[in-house]
Amino acid sequence: MNITYACPSCERTTRSEFDETSPRLICVQCGAEQAIPAGAVSEDGVSRCLVCPSDELFLRKDFPQRLGVTIVAVGLAASCIPWYFHNWYGTFAILFATALVDVVLYLTMGDMLQCYRCQAQYRGVPGLDSHESFSLETHERHRQQQARLSQARHSVKG
Ligand SMILES: [Zn+2]
Ligand SMILES: [Zn+2]
Repeated sequence: MNITYACPSCERTTRSEFDETSPRLICVQCGAEQAIPAGAVSEDGVSRCLVCPSDELFLRKDFPQRLGVTIVAVGLAASCIPWYFHNWYGTFAILFATALVDVVLYLTMGDMLQCYRCQAQYRGVPGLDSHESFSLETHERHRQQQARLSQARHSVKG
């Protein structure tokens, strides 16, 4: 199993391998150690986030949005070539192929878990079926909580 998270010490994105026997996560960027909450990881998978540690995680496709956008951009650019030569059939063939590649990639990509609160991402975790997919309601609740927290921090400082 591995986790991609924003290190609380150096605030950079880092990735750590872990299993149910690991006592802590170690940041590959700055070496900061982060204790894994007791009982968070078992043979059945991850029950709560190892970083923040919220117990609300959602299931999503391991499909980097940037990759999807890149494929579409490349497809659009490539379709300009036959379009320039008035080859409409070629233009549409390229656009259609681009959309197809996107769909096939999406379907063949594996699943991963993501934390609503700190956006940590978990890959290679067993027992994904016990987690629900993204809920806008939960996401909104966390977003508002986060906004209240940063507001509170602001008023303490000011
Ligand atoms: Zn770090
Ligand atoms: Zn988290």
